[in-house]
Amino acid sequence: LRDRLKDPALLKEACYIDGAWVGTPMFAVNNPATGVELAKVPQLGADETTKAVEAAQRAFPGWAKHTAKQRSNILRKWFELIVANREDLALILTSEQGKPLSEALGEVDIGAAYIEFFAEEARRVYGETIPTQRPDARLLAIKQPIGVCGAITPWNFPNSMITRKVSPALAAGCTVVLKPANETPLSALALAVLAEKAGIPKGVLNIVTGDAPPIGKVLCEHPAVRFVGFTGSTAVGKILYQQASVGVKRLGLELGGNAPFVVFDDADIDAAVEGAIVSKYRNMGQTCVCANRIYAQDKIYDEFVKKLSAKVAAMKIGDGTESGVTQGPLINMKAVDKVERHIADAVKRGAKVVTGGKRSELGRSFFEPTVLADVKPDSLVSQEETFGPLAAVIRFKDEADVIAMCNASPFGLASYFYSRDIGRVWRVAEALESGMVGVNTGLITTEVAPFGGVKESGLGREGSRHGMEEYVEIKYVMMAGV
Ligand code: ADP
Repeated sequence: LRDRLKDPALLKEACYIDGAWVGTPMFAVNNPATGVELAKVPQLGADETTKAVEAAQRAFPGWAKHTAKQRSNILRKWFELIVANREDLALILTSEQGKPLSEALGEVDIGAAYIEFFAEEARRVYGETIPTQRPDARLLAIKQPIGVCGAITPWNFPNSMITRKVSPALAAGCTVVLKPANETPLSALALAVLAEKAGIPKGVLNIVTGDAPPIGKVLCEHPAVRFVGFTGSTAVGKILYQQASVGVKRLGLELGGNAPFVVFDDADIDAAVEGAIVSKYRNMGQTCVCANRIYAQDKIYDEFVKKLSAKVAAMKIGDGTESGVTQGPLINMKAVDKVERHIADAVKRGAKVVTGGKRSELGRSFFEPTVLADVKPDSLVSQEETFGPLAAVIRFKDEADVIAMCNASPFGLASYFYSRDIGRVWRVAEALESGMVGVNTGLITTEVAPFGGVKESGLGREGSRHGMEEYVEIKYVMMAGV
């Protein structure tokens, strides 16, 4: 990999703590498409994480005292360096994660866009004055950075999940200790190389790789940490929620989803097929907002399934760095097992495999993009997040029934539906129990909009001006005797 980078210095095998590159390379990061080892990164634990938190604690007052404009300028520089190195960053990303290079470039771009957006927002963290209730006093509310922040990020978006947390934190004046996923630490370390170059002062951004549970425990329990931001599974999110209760820390949780994707009779079917492809098969189905249960209405059911499976059957599977590939490998064999389990369960209940349905002849964790028809609403695939390239299409008759099915889930991250009836669009958008709704689109993520879930899908919002609120505390000041 190093030989293929324009700037080989972006491939780092050390952690970044207090402005220094530390740790012995220990555990291997492998390319899921080839099994080839790309690099080794340090295996740090509780002690080094504590040191990183202390470094962030020392750096906090100085960083918070920078003017908003100074922080904004440094973030802007980081953004520019990422844009200038986007091809290298995308190649590192695809190599460690598997997604097609075109998608990796897209992720680097939106990752950079978060930094650009929060560099701008840094200057707009306004407080307020409040009409007083007593004549001798004046009231105001100011916003201050919450303090040291912990961040724990997943492997499915190794770049943008980091910038979506780190850039609002830094913009607000907070300092950060980040633990990236063990499958994909190289993207995180490359971002740190550029952060250092951009002039982010030492201790303001720290990155530790290693053993997740002890690192997570320090981030949740160290008294200096005031906020923990996590994207990952609901199971781990619940552990962190409990751990963070000890010090009553604020938490941002972006957890699992089980997104319904509904195609009504009055939809533009071709557009719905396009949307389903983007929503379901992007990143090989490994995003928390991927369509997981597709409901198509009776009258258009057959046409939708036929058009969808024709497109899916034509997808090219392979190493994400090869041109024309739209489906890379899944992250590991456990992911393959889950897709197989969901297919077997649906078929047992009477579903038909229309296309795909098995492991690819390429071997490893490559899996054929799959469409199942006549899926029963109570199948496993409609209850659990598949996190793989499996579209399970369920038939429905009635609007009220499908809304009830959509909402019969403990999760509520994204939902999608296709309809051209304006009354239905409002009705359904308001009735769906989810943090985000895509109407006539399968792609809703953007740095300018609030991303987040309801129910067990999480707490808080990332991106948009709301994403900044997570990282500030409101302080109310009463000035009396005036
Ligand atoms: P996935 O199943 O998609 O890998 P996880 O929730 O296991 O999702 O992983 C998301 C992130 O959480 C990763 O960085 C992982 O290393 C980290 N993680 C896993 N277990 C724990 C834990 N007990 N405490 C803190 N972080 C954890």
